[in-house]
Amino acid sequence: MKKIGIIGGGILGLSLGYNLALKKKYSIHIYEKEDELGKHQSGNNSGVLHCGLSYNPGSLKAKLSMEGISKMVAFCKMHHIDHDICGKLVVATNEDEIKSLQNLAKRGVMNGLSGLRMLNKKEQIKREPNINSLKSLLVPGEGIVNFNQVMNKLSEIIKGEGGSIFLNSPVKKIINQNNSTIIVSDKSEHNYDIIINCTGLFSDRTYTSITDQKSPIKIIPFRGEYLKIKSRYKDIFNHLIYPVPNSDYPFLGVHFTRMINGDKEVGPNAVLAFKREGYKNVDISVYDTLDSIFYKGFLNFLRNNFNFAIGEFSSSIFLSSFVKKAKKLIPEVKAEMFEKGNSGVRAQAMDSNGELIMDFKIIKQNNQIHILNAPSPGATASLSIADYIIENHLN
Ligand SMILES: Cc1cc2nc3c(=O)[nH]c(=O)nc-3n(C[C@H](O)[C@H](O)[C@H](O)COP(=O)(O)OP(=O)(O)OC[C@H]3O[C@@H](n4cnc5c(N)ncnc54)[C@H](O)[C@@H]3O)c2cc1C
Repeated sequence: MKKIGIIGGGILGLSLGYNLALKKKYSIHIYEKEDELGKHQSGNNSGVLHCGLSYNPGSLKAKLSMEGISKMVAFCKMHHIDHDICGKLVVATNEDEIKSLQNLAKRGVMNGLSGLRMLNKKEQIKREPNINSLKSLLVPGEGIVNFNQVMNKLSEIIKGEGGSIFLNSPVKKIINQNNSTIIVSDKSEHNYDIIINCTGLFSDRTYTSITDQKSPIKIIPFRGEYLKIKSRYKDIFNHLIYPVPNSDYPFLGVHFTRMINGDKEVGPNAVLAFKREGYKNVDISVYDTLDSIFYKGFLNFLRNNFNFAIGEFSSSIFLSSFVKKAKKLIPEVKAEMFEKGNSGVRAQAMDSNGELIMDFKIIKQNNQIHILNAPSPGATASLSIADYIIENHLN
């Protein structure tokens, strides 16, 4: 049996552990630094199942989200996990956006999506009477899910198949010895044939610490903040309402989401965070901030995206600025309809030119596999990302 050590107990580490454990030819250990699984990106996201509408045709994101949503829905059905394929509307609010929406629909078809269609006024009003829309694209295959339930089930199956999950076990270093590698955590030392880095917001630092090489990318943390709709205003929308995305960024724009627990939210923005696991704007790490600022690409990014960065930052500081983004989709919303919601921090890879890496980035180096960039729709696509890694890097 090959011994595999997975670093990181988010949805990607767990999906890999699950897919490998089911093959019954690997011994699986997962190391998680926190006292629970999925405490970071995987447990703090929009909970949306994305089917690959807006990603570049031919990209890993397009292929793996398309395959991943089917696998995730099948997994949810098999294990009675809360989910709802409620469909989403992408809404054009001006003439320029209508053109982009039509291109988006073409892109969706190229990515293999079926059932996409522009709604007529009557259909749109029936679904979402309060939106400001010149044209709306219905994406019927998308939905919402409880990713925490997914992670609990994955971990239960991994353990049932004989795998081990070590909580409170930050991996500090590894030691290469002959043909195998020892993972050293706070509590133990074990020997492995293969190591997989699934450390999300720390993937670049883990890469450097276990390869002794400079990471080809830098993780820049972008916090996404949400506002929760107060329960008496919940009827203002029904399902998922998204703006036409700006193709210059990997973020989909502030949207309205119905959560699987019945809550309704609007968000997330995309604010440069001063700490990798900084969930509030007062969370500051001098080390993390200097690490971002002194990265070669960062100043290029700021120079080229200054207005974007300021706009997002202002939505973090001023409620009125956040509400303005929401009003674009539903003009009736007002500040008093919202209360503070959750936030999550995206692990977004940037290259040394200051470009945000749009696609998933996974590399193999000797007996190590590194997931260096897996932002949204990484949770939807997790089971497919795991299959992709096993097929391309483990066989
Ligand atoms: C605001 C926001 C909204 C999003 N919305 C969606 C959405 O609607 N749909 C969707 O599909 N995707 C969405 N995503 C993306 C999705 O959440 C991520 O793609 C996915 O969770 C990535 O999983 P992961 O396992 O790589 O990372 P994580 O969940 O961050 O897991 C990494 C784990 O590694 C652990 N770790 C780090 N360093 C070490 C170490 N040295 N030793 C041991 N453990 C370590 C961390 O504690 C963490 O638990 C969103 C993300 C955010 C932040």
